[in-house]
Amino acid sequence: MSWRASVITLFPELFPGPLGASVIGRGLDNGAWALDTHNLRDFAQDRHRTVDDTPAGGGAGMVLKPDILADAIDFAAPTDDERPRIVMSPRGMPLTQQRVRELAQGPGALIICGRFEGIDQRVIEARNLQEISIGDYVLAGGEVAAMVLLEAVVRLLPGVLGAAESHADESFEDGLLEYPQYTRPQSFEGLEIPSVLTSGDHGRVAKWRREQAEALTRTRRPDLWAAFGKENP
Ligand code: SAH
Repeated sequence: MSWRASVITLFPELFPGPLGASVIGRGLDNGAWALDTHNLRDFAQDRHRTVDDTPAGGGAGMVLKPDILADAIDFAAPTDDERPRIVMSPRGMPLTQQRVRELAQGPGALIICGRFEGIDQRVIEARNLQEISIGDYVLAGGEVAAMVLLEAVVRLLPGVLGAAESHADESFEDGLLEYPQYTRPQSFEGLEIPSVLTSGDHGRVAKWRREQAEALTRTRRPDLWAAFGKENP
């Protein structure tokens, strides 16, 4: 059984979208992962196909109704479905490479894309939804956020990236940002590739890369650097 994503959205036509391209799209075609989308509007119960209503307590915008969303969840992931149930939300736990790795090791995910002002709090509790944020900014809907999460997870699945595109060295994998990369030509607009990288001395290359990764992390991401220091006394 391949890793399976089920997505509940008001805009199923947005999928697979960018997830249909390149290595992620090839993985979808060759069965490394699977995707099904569910249009929330198909679960509406009135002839206007209403999915939202005004916020209790007043205020601007609309809120997705809990009963309609619960029906969609129960259809897309029945109670014996063990996949984590995620709702994309700026109030959620920040998505990290660690969380991405955990998701990639599981059976898949049910992902709910919010719209308007978000979703009724009671469905989050009643269906045990985990809120995940892709960053401290507000999008118009959860679809692009869901794609970010899926792209990050799928590239870790077996058989999706070739051996040549291994992720062992990458940013965040060891708690550091990645070192700078260079390729031919040797000279570009008067800028040379650092000579250590063309020295053929693997030990010196590794040392240089490590120093660069540490310096970049220290100056750009003091938060990551502080966390790194704790784990590596
Ligand atoms: N009123 C909400 C924002 C709603 S934005 C609030 O202030 O918290 C509409 C939808 O876009 C959300 O329900 C969510 O699914 C999605 N969304 C917006 N920003 C996001 C982010 N940073 N991460 C994940 N999903 C986000």
